[in-house]
Amino acid sequence: MTIIGLTGGIGSGKSTVSRRLEAHGVLVLDADRVAHELMERGRPVWRAVWEAFGWAVLDACGALDRARLGRTVFGDPVALGRLNALVHPAVRAALRERTAAAAAAGVPRVVWDVPLLIEGGLYREVDQVWVVYAAVEQQVERVMRRAHASAGEARRRVAAQWPLAAKVAYADRVLDNTGSEEDLARQVDALVAAWGAS
Ligand code: ATP
Repeated sequence: MTIIGLTGGIGSGKSTVSRRLEAHGVLVLDADRVAHELMERGRPVWRAVWEAFGWAVLDACGALDRARLGRTVFGDPVALGRLNALVHPAVRAALRERTAAAAAAGVPRVVWDVPLLIEGGLYREVDQVWVVYAAVEQQVERVMRRAHASAGEARRRVAAQWPLAAKVAYADRVLDNTGSEEDLARQVDALVAAWGAS
């Protein structure tokens, strides 16, 4: 089993790469999606977050309100650290378990799609690191378009993360998303085709 860690920055094109890999039948485990599942009402992570942050982060139905939770931790490194300490270990455990199950079923490779792969240290557990790269201005423009954010807001969100150039230093493969989405898809196709040849 080969584990590929796929990462990038906000708006760099990571989800676009994941979707293309899935279209090729590659197993992709999306850390954000796993986190959503683990935070569903009644699950241990939901309970731990509620106990840590109180009623204010629940909606009227008792589900975690991710927007409120985001506002609670935004700009507060201590609160963000507490939240991450509750969620990240559970996500990591789920990724490992699902990967072990896939390996036992004979799946040859899995892609872990993890926004904070490098910052959180999970890159040490993968066989290859793939970084999706775009220029800062392209990230800003794509975040504005996708999230209908203002330029200032998009810029703040990009600036809050590690610069992509720093992540590239950890990469075994860099997917260059400074061109069109078709260019990016062609790079994914070539990497998948190379597996077929090996
Ligand atoms: P996030 O981590 O914020 O979800 P991401 O890295 O997963 O970001 P995507 O969701 O793949 O990024 O892409 C962000 C937006 O930019 C999407 O609307 C996508 O369609 C668009 N996009 C991606 N690549 C390109 C490209 N090469 N040219 C133009 N738009 C692009």
